[in-house]
Amino acid sequence: MQNILVYIQAPGATPTKSQCELLTLGASLGEVRVVLGAHADEATRAVLSSWGATGFYAAEALEGHIAPEAALLAAAAKDFKAAAVLLPNDSAGREVAARAAIKLDAGVITDAIGVEQDLTVTKSVLAGSYTVRVKATRGPLLVTVKPNSVELPSEAPATISAAALSTLDLGEVGPMAVITGVSERASSGRPDLSEARFVVAGGRGVDGDFGPVEELADALGAAVGASRAATDAGWIDHGAQIGQTGKTVSPQLYISAGISGAIQQKAGMQTSTYIVAVNSDPDAPVFEIADLGIVGDLTRVLPQAAAEIRRRKG
Ligand SMILES: Cc1cc2nc3c(=O)[nH]c(=O)nc-3n(C[C@H](O)[C@H](O)[C@H](O)COP(=O)(O)OP(=O)(O)OC[C@H]3O[C@@H](n4cnc5c(N)ncnc54)[C@H](O)[C@@H]3O)c2cc1C
Repeated sequence: MQNILVYIQAPGATPTKSQCELLTLGASLGEVRVVLGAHADEATRAVLSSWGATGFYAAEALEGHIAPEAALLAAAAKDFKAAAVLLPNDSAGREVAARAAIKLDAGVITDAIGVEQDLTVTKSVLAGSYTVRVKATRGPLLVTVKPNSVELPSEAPATISAAALSTLDLGEVGPMAVITGVSERASSGRPDLSEARFVVAGGRGVDGDFGPVEELADALGAAVGASRAATDAGWIDHGAQIGQTGKTVSPQLYISAGISGAIQQKAGMQTSTYIVAVNSDPDAPVFEIADLGIVGDLTRVLPQAAAEIRRRKG
């Protein structure tokens, strides 16, 4: 059986959906051990063990710094003789993967939406226009996996006792940035955009008012996203931008409202399972990739959809 490492940067009392997906994917490929990017107490390790982790790697004083995390990942990959390392497809995951790959003289594949038993990776390329199957030619495969790429079991597994923890001595890891302060962003109370099962996104067509988009998102329990035109106009935070230079999302349902569907926007959302587009222009390019297209004014369509969802939820 091949050995698979899963990188969990911020272990919490309850693993996130993306973390569960990485563990589930890892367990389908081989024996899984977890590299911990921060301290995890025994209860946290027990929950991760129930998701398939048979061992843990940690190091002293990581303090959220990428350089020692990459050093730990590389050391763990050597110790475990890992065939593959699975990481989240966020900016931290990609940076740790890149740094560890240099130490391991290994290949990195990003934007993965699937990994097969022989470590062939499926990923989307060229701004999401094509899906390709690729393999790394040397070293352990380091692969960053998009959220919502792996189907989870319908029920969380029963918690078992925590698997063994190995603390590695990293020695000197070289220069690293020092974080001098952290300020938390105010929480919207909505799901995280990258992980959400449902996303409602608005573009220039909202004309400065994200109210209808937010109303539908709240009725659905969805995250709110946006096109670059909307974020550049200052109508919503840049963190909501979806696309080539924004976030990549792959929810089960993506509702696009008042967004034309430029290639750079499609790059961030076209792997969504179902795409519903609301646009007043019947020739808008977004309709080419929509499973359901509604030609209409979003200020009329979205509130009606939200009201109907609320009515059905009772
Ligand atoms: C290098 C580069 C990177 C980029 N990266 C990104 C990126 O990451 N993400 C991104 O989104 N864009 C990105 N862009 C910009 C992209 O090319 C488009 O300009 C942008 O996506 C357009 O945003 P939009 O669809 O909201 O606006 P528009 O193209 O202006 O479309 C607005 C749409 O709203 C419709 N509309 C208007 N009023 C209503 C109404 N009342 N009801 C319903 N529909 C209505 C219109 O018919 C129109 O289709 C990038 C561009 C470049 C060059």
